[in-house]
Amino acid sequence: MQVCVYCASSAKIDSAYFEATEALAKSLVASDCQVVFGGGSSGLMGKLADTVLENGGRIRGIMPQFMNEVEWGHKGVSDFIYTHTMHERKAKFLEGTDAIIALPGGPGTFEELFEAITLRKLGQISTPIVVLNTNGYFNLFADLMQQAVTEKFMTDDGESVWKMVNEPEDVITCIRDFKTQKIELTQAGTLR
Ligand code: AMP
Repeated sequence: MQVCVYCASSAKIDSAYFEATEALAKSLVASDCQVVFGGGSSGLMGKLADTVLENGGRIRGIMPQFMNEVEWGHKGVSDFIYTHTMHERKAKFLEGTDAIIALPGGPGTFEELFEAITLRKLGQISTPIVVLNTNGYFNLFADLMQQAVTEKFMTDDGESVWKMVNEPEDVITCIRDFKTQKIELTQAGTLR
């Protein structure tokens, strides 16, 4: 299984986020996952790559050339794809990917997560999306999504588009239990 992990570049965050990332990385290696990530060496990206490599796992970084030029790439990762743009990078994240995992992060992570949810809601991907809610970091995100449903800015897909778990050990099970049913658009352009 190939999993794409979106996560923070910031290194200034609480140690709980690093511990959860380490536990997740170990479980991905134990499940023989090919990990795909943003290629960065800092923050949770660095922790993810360090742990996967230390445990003999497989990891691929995908990074735009401009980030590579300022040496943001993880030096221990040998499997790298360099893209021309951020848009191309995000498309490459999803090529051959069987599951998407979002860990806590900043605007870059939010943007990647929102794009994946949007593509899934529009039926362009059918990839399971799992959000790891360490320290309740994504509680406000869940509230925001519920607000969008309550105010009828989006349909309520229940948990069929994205799911949230609190513990890194539960991510793999959540992916396996995911209903990978593809969303179909109706002729009128609205979602069924
Ligand atoms: P954020 O969640 O805002 O930290 O963003 C993570 C994403 O931001 C990554 O996928 C990259 O697009 C980008 N990014 C920001 N800073 C870095 C960095 N130092 N190294 C690599 N990628 C970074």
